[in-house]
Amino acid sequence: MDFIALENRVSAPNYAPLPVVLTRGEGSYLWDVDGGRYVDMMSAYSAVSLGHAHPRILAALTEQAQRLAVPSRAYYSDRLGPFLEELCRVSGFDAALPMNTGAEAVETAIKAARRWGYRIKSVRRDRAEIVVAQGNFHGRTTSIVGFSSEASYRDGFGPFAPGFRAVPFGDLAAMERAITPDTAAVLVEPIQGEAGIVVPPKGWLAGVRALCDRHGVLLIVDEVQSGLGRTGAWFAFEHENVRPDGIIVGKALGGGVLPVSAFVARREVMNVFTPGSHGSTFGGNPLAAAVGLEALRVIRDEGLVERSRVLGNYMLDRLRAIKSPALKAVRGLGLWVGAEIDPRFASARIACELLLAKGVLSKETHDTVVRLAPPLVIARDDLDFALDRFEEVVRDLSVSPRPHPVAA
Ligand code: PMP
Repeated sequence: MDFIALENRVSAPNYAPLPVVLTRGEGSYLWDVDGGRYVDMMSAYSAVSLGHAHPRILAALTEQAQRLAVPSRAYYSDRLGPFLEELCRVSGFDAALPMNTGAEAVETAIKAARRWGYRIKSVRRDRAEIVVAQGNFHGRTTSIVGFSSEASYRDGFGPFAPGFRAVPFGDLAAMERAITPDTAAVLVEPIQGEAGIVVPPKGWLAGVRALCDRHGVLLIVDEVQSGLGRTGAWFAFEHENVRPDGIIVGKALGGGVLPVSAFVARREVMNVFTPGSHGSTFGGNPLAAAVGLEALRVIRDEGLVERSRVLGNYMLDRLRAIKSPALKAVRGLGLWVGAEIDPRFASARIACELLLAKGVLSKETHDTVVRLAPPLVIARDDLDFALDRFEEVVRDLSVSPRPHPVAA
């Protein structure tokens, strides 16, 4: 069976997958249909931080699926409260609004910020603005791509919603200039993931917090990809000792098996929602809540935050020790690293195809960055295997470059 040809024939052409057909996953391994085994250095964009098929997640999933899965939020359930209580505890906020995908939770945050702007800050009617960062990635809905700076995400999808202003990531002066009396919130990623794991200057997020305080603006941090241990802290905002007014969490919250996301915030912000003002048929369903609660407990019980910090430092040290002209830069935090390939030697896509041939799965982001973000449960031996293969690829490329026709 040619699964690649089949998928290409019947699916929308909105992805360009690497040519491998996966059929099974366990921990930090994935297997293809021919039995080939790979080390996962992608973790499904952080959704699989706990590893594939985690036994405790599968147990919570199957046990709950047999009891009660989706009664809707027309009723209370015995799973939602315990889940949100734990989410509030680990993040230090008062209340959470559960959704499914990251983009939905971002939309939730935007609605909360705008309503807070009108009802608490007294912004002029329908004039609320949200300041975002250039290079952002917050999802794919029409309002979110409307404030993206990536042409391919926007092209042909307008008209876009007004009310967003983008300033350069890491530039506090530009952010202060963009803030007006109509600004309700600043919405940023603490580290820009899809932009290529771009780490802002030290002190930037603390500076954003100070600006928000000075101008009476909410600080909302998108931790969909950076959260739940990925950067070696529960949440990336902790590295700068700041407290946002709200955060957006997703991906790993679903334990690698379900889409589970949430907007989590201070009570004053969350209380702008009233019955009927927001909702989701699947958001916060007992199945998702049981899995989400177990995911948070697994992260705590297995010390995955600390593991990400220690193994992440190790990974960064190893990558920075590679001396090769084909490797232009290495940046990141925790088990979340972007390795920038010099386009004179190859595109990141070609580097990923060479890694695939050696049993390591990664994915390029933009033309030049190879993402290295394994499940936080990865064994050091497997991490070493993946990094050895990466080192080989980079060395081979520096000896025999394979410049991409476009990038060259
Ligand atoms: N925010 C950030 C920071 C993300 O990285 C992503 C996904 N890559 C999203 C939001 C959107 O998440 P989803 O694909 O689940 O809608």
